[in-house]
Amino acid sequence: MTDRSLTLMAVHAHPDDEATSTGGILARYAAEGITTVLVTCTDGGCGDGPGGVKPGDPGHDPQAVVAMRRAELTASCEALKVTHLETLGYADSGMMGWAANDAPGAFWNTPVGEAADRLAELIRRYRPDVVVTYDENGFYGHPDHIQAHRITMAAVERTDIPAKVYWTTVPRSAFQDFGRIMKEIGVEFPEPDGPSGEMPALGLPDDEITTWVDTSAYGGQKFESLAAHASQAENIFFLQLGQERFTDLMGRETFVRVRDTTGAPTPEDDLFAGLR
Ligand SMILES: [Zn+2]
Repeated sequence: MTDRSLTLMAVHAHPDDEATSTGGILARYAAEGITTVLVTCTDGGCGDGPGGVKPGDPGHDPQAVVAMRRAELTASCEALKVTHLETLGYADSGMMGWAANDAPGAFWNTPVGEAADRLAELIRRYRPDVVVTYDENGFYGHPDHIQAHRITMAAVERTDIPAKVYWTTVPRSAFQDFGRIMKEIGVEFPEPDGPSGEMPALGLPDDEITTWVDTSAYGGQKFESLAAHASQAENIFFLQLGQERFTDLMGRETFVRVRDTTGAPTPEDDLFAGLR
């Protein structure tokens, strides 16, 4: 053990992803004195514009969206007390099948090795004990999420530094409740996207989830961080729950452990089990 503080690195695709899938752990581990590093790979330029203008619609100015989302990301990091924010600045690739997938500078259009080199540099600089990213399907098939997964796994392999690596996931048992509550507040799940029109199976059976982290004490901060991304509010349906209900419902974040050098037994309730 060294006297260096433990470090968590979360690698995300867009501004706002840090809030939805890891807001609880970022807030909790910062409060516990752990150094937290957020790496956001894209600029979010395919998000909604000021006034809710959708990408591709007249008046959607990606540069204005990028500037707005950068400010929102900074505010979200303040809410979560993130120690270091790093942005790779790739262009948002949009949903699978969009022309933006192939645009110059698009994250999806960037060779994995090239982006992994840049992330590996950050891993060498911060020496995270724990790295968190998405599964190989980017949880729901978004090209930038898939690419974030690929570059993270490549950078971990290259550096061999993190003791533990996790993919975010959701227990299947939670989906039913979640769907019911969303219906109650009048939110429809988005239609499947992409050329195949098929929604991949989301989440994992409960018994395949290795790590259940209680973040209930940090629900307020997580909500605040989501709310910081107000320009994307239409896509962030959790916000419609209101802070109190949200905190009740979303007080746990779940992961699958895919790399471990500590031998900590699973299931575990702490990403740093075996490290402190
Ligand atoms: Zn995203």
